[in-house]
Amino acid sequence: MTRDEPATSSLSASVGDYLKAIWVIARDEPAGTGDIARALGVNASSVTGMLNKLKRMGLIRYRPYYGAQLTADGRSEALRLVRRHRLLETFLIRDLGYSWDEVHEEAEAMEHVMSGRFTERLAAHLGQPSHDPHGDPIPRDDGTVPSTPSTGLCDVPAGKDFVVSRILSQDPEVLAYVTELGIGPGTRLRVESREPVGELLMVRADGRPLAISRELGRLILGAVRDDAGPQAAP
Ligand SMILES: [Zn+2]
Repeated sequence: MTRDEPATSSLSASVGDYLKAIWVIARDEPAGTGDIARALGVNASSVTGMLNKLKRMGLIRYRPYYGAQLTADGRSEALRLVRRHRLLETFLIRDLGYSWDEVHEEAEAMEHVMSGRFTERLAAHLGQPSHDPHGDPIPRDDGTVPSTPSTGLCDVPAGKDFVVSRILSQDPEVLAYVTELGIGPGTRLRVESREPVGELLMVRADGRPLAISRELGRLILGAVRDDAGPQAAP
């Protein structure tokens, strides 16, 4: 991935936001238009118009029903923005005292105006972090992406220990609620049992009993941890 590339700064913020959404949803696979619309909070007809534009710009492959898939150029622009976004969120939380449910909107605005030089100085200042405070991987400057454990808490069998690596949500309400429960990257949970009807998960976090819905359990990602097993988070 090249830095300070003049071509990238001529792309509009909304073009970048689409590329980022496609990457976050599907990485290198095709992303469905419905999922893209939901991620960006826009209606499906405006998504179709923008996807046709991105296709003409050579940033995606797009066919109705197949979805939108990043080309090499689209992918490198998406990763460039995701890198900036996640470094900014890390900086805001670690150095400026923001809480992790407050940083997304700030980062959304600033990522589009950061120079490559500022980005790399910021990365160096932060000690080249591999993951942001949500536990999301920060793409490296060379376009590779650190790996992240991604088992959902909802899929962990009763009796197993689980170490949280990532909360799969940018919704401030969800993040504030999860924080209130005392759950974040690095939290160790034990799944005690499942309530069979509504599939509530009965969990213990540092000895505290918690009931977690299946829906919330889907957003809490991490690794099952056997005591003899390997370290969970990189
Ligand atoms: Zn964010």
